[in-house]
Amino acid sequence: MIVGAGPVGLVAALSLAARGVPSVVLERETRAPTDLRASTFHPPTLDLLEALDLTAPILAGGLRVPEWQVRQHETHERAVFDLSVLARDTRHPYRVQFEQADFCALLLRRAGDCDAIDLRRGQVVEQIEQQADRVTLDVAMNGDRQRLQARWVIAADGASSTLREALGLNFAGLTYPETTLLATTRFPFEDHLPGLSWVNHVWYAQGTFSLLRVPDRWRISLYPADGEIVAAALRPERLQSRLQEIVPNPGGYEIIEARPYRIHQRILDCYRAGRVLFAGDAAHLNSPSGGMGMNCGIHDAVNLAEKLAAVLAGGDESLLDLYDRQRRPIAREEILKQADGNRRRMQQRDPAWRRRELARLQAIAADRDAAREFLLRSSMISGLRKAAAMT
Ligand SMILES: Cc1cc2nc3c(=O)[nH]c(=O)nc-3n(C[C@H](O)[C@H](O)[C@H](O)COP(=O)(O)OP(=O)(O)OC[C@H]3O[C@@H](n4cnc5c(N)ncnc54)[C@H](O)[C@@H]3O)c2cc1C
Repeated sequence: MIVGAGPVGLVAALSLAARGVPSVVLERETRAPTDLRASTFHPPTLDLLEALDLTAPILAGGLRVPEWQVRQHETHERAVFDLSVLARDTRHPYRVQFEQADFCALLLRRAGDCDAIDLRRGQVVEQIEQQADRVTLDVAMNGDRQRLQARWVIAADGASSTLREALGLNFAGLTYPETTLLATTRFPFEDHLPGLSWVNHVWYAQGTFSLLRVPDRWRISLYPADGEIVAAALRPERLQSRLQEIVPNPGGYEIIEARPYRIHQRILDCYRAGRVLFAGDAAHLNSPSGGMGMNCGIHDAVNLAEKLAAVLAGGDESLLDLYDRQRRPIAREEILKQADGNRRRMQQRDPAWRRRELARLQAIAADRDAAREFLLRSSMISGLRKAAAMT
């Protein structure tokens, strides 16, 4: 039984199906998600998803990103990281910008076509009890209640995981003080800012913003000004003036959508609670800076499906502890720490610090070996290698 038909729950279901294991997926929502969330697929995720025949449609529908950068807005100085240095480390030495909502739509289509996946939407898991040989779930649907039993449960029910709460698990960490504002527009920033990449993390005098291209729009992440309340920062005229600060546009910006979000850094003490295995946002949360949260959850799902399929085929249950040993330290040491460092770097305001940091990044980007080392980590390849080496 899998709780949650987000990217992590559905990749787990498809990975199990590919190994001949049927699953029931319980999902609270009746409609596919459309909100603005992940947009980046890193190289090893593209490598992993090939086995499920998902990489080709991501490449076909997404935007290939051969390089990304950190830049100073006023001077256009930049450190540009060319992912082609990873050519011997991955079959996909580039990132792909493909929106999470499109990925979920693709996964839902695939799950719908797969006989081994019983996807039940509009089902809210409310409680969970564990027995020695099974798990019982209380599920609400259209005012009715039912009790379902499973041998194993994958908890892929996201950041506010009901299963995590119901089992009383500690989700230690912090919530960052700032609120991020995410807006999208079709304005062609690339025609106005010299040398822009498709993924850009930018310092400017007033703070920081990022410009991420998805196939048909730019996504801009901004922060309210010091002391400004979020509702005021989100007013259309205020967002308009913020975008005008980035590139003056006498015609006015068409802002397609805007949403605020808070970011957290949290992780479970253990990904296994008896017969319940946690994966994705239910298990770990990090700043989106660097675009790693969903990718990390997909890596969890593929690893867990392999172990669970082996256990169901008669393998030792201790394989599920190996899942925790392989995936949790990587999330904590590689993903949460890097995302926190990326966020901290971009939040720095001191011009002298920024100049030194930009020079340091430019030196790394200019040296092929140093750039490869840096990109192996930021592209989540070294984390996967470390996980594979853990026994
Ligand atoms: C603005 C933003 C940008 C981001 N950018 C990136 C990026 O570029 N790259 C990246 O890797 N990550 C990024 N992330 C993170 C990424 O969105 C998450 O890591 C990802 O959604 C996690 O997937 P999941 O399947 O674990 O959880 P979710 O996507 O939250 O899915 C959980 C599912 O469980 C269902 N559910 C919850 N409770 C219940 C219940 N009780 N019963 C039944 N069903 C339930 C929910 O309805 C939902 O469908 C970003 C996040 C944000 C907010």
